[in-house]
Amino acid sequence: MNPIKLAIVGVGKIARDQHLPSIAANPDFDLVAAASRSASVDGVRNFSSAAEMLDAMPEIEAVALCMPPQARHAIAADALSRGKHVMLEKPPGATLSEVEHLAGLAAANGVTLQATWHSRYAPGVAPAKARLKGRRIRSVEVTWKEDVRHWHPGQDWIWEPGGLGVFDPGINALSIVTEILPFPIWLTSAGLSFPENRAAPIAADLAFSGPSGEAVEAAFDWRQTGPQTWDIAVEADGGRLVLSSGGARLSIDGETHTDEAAAEYPGLYARFAELIRSGTSDVDLSPLRHVADAFMLGRRLAVEAFHDDPAAA
Ligand code: NAP
Repeated sequence: MNPIKLAIVGVGKIARDQHLPSIAANPDFDLVAAASRSASVDGVRNFSSAAEMLDAMPEIEAVALCMPPQARHAIAADALSRGKHVMLEKPPGATLSEVEHLAGLAAANGVTLQATWHSRYAPGVAPAKARLKGRRIRSVEVTWKEDVRHWHPGQDWIWEPGGLGVFDPGINALSIVTEILPFPIWLTSAGLSFPENRAAPIAADLAFSGPSGEAVEAAFDWRQTGPQTWDIAVEADGGRLVLSSGGARLSIDGETHTDEAAAEYPGLYARFAELIRSGTSDVDLSPLRHVADAFMLGRRLAVEAFHDDPAAA
């Protein structure tokens, strides 16, 4: 089968760290072009906008959109309307409705839309899901605490409306929780801490319930210096299951059970190829819906102003 002619849009941190190496390693894709306002990719044709690229290269079959969520919908809608398959970085958009619009466009044009959740491809996630299937679960505790200055230096978009603030990493935890739990959950209360000079939260405490009263609690915090924590602990019949390091490691009652072969972005591209070849889409909005619910139900607390450079405080 011929490789799928792919283009990438938005050449920033995640494009360089993960997308470009994963595409290069996947024989199902041939990277033929890139669109970027400020950068270029070696060995392919480069354009300053996605529209210019799609006008010049009608042979492009698929695009991977790697820019922040606020800038994605118009480009995705244009690409889908031109009959291109589209991969969306997480979170898939700035609102639920715009992503639903994209899903409708994909269906109407007979092309694939993939709303990616890279953390679902972390090595511990599939074994955790298999382990929890059919078991009684009592509680889930999510701790997602990292240093925003280390992980998101100078990313102004992340603090703007639609950038999600601490939910940018937190939604990764929610994408895992919604993948591994064998039942739906819904938010019952939330507290959101907004720096007084920012439009997005720096911390969030969430409580969810499941259908049999299962308690799911999540603490997201971007003010963590020292050890960084991306853990999900599940109390279930048959033992305590802990996914740590963002899903990279799974332990059950202290014993490790991880699928060493799994890897996040190679997994996403393998899935993108599978969806395109089978003529289907994958658009699960449940992680983004929980975040939207948190903005609806959350009690807001004003906290100390945040400056990228602490000396500016
Ligand atoms: P980034 O480096 O700050 O931005 C990515 C690129 O998007 C920029 O280099 C720029 O590319 C383009 N861009 C930025 N602001 C834009 C705007 N307002 N309008 C149009 N294009 C814009 O961000 P990133 O860390 O790569 O994150 C991008 C997406 O990937 C986010 O949704 C994030 O949640 C997700 N993600 C990031 C990571 C990570 O570790 N950083 C991990 C997983 C997922 P051009 O100059 O080329 O146009």
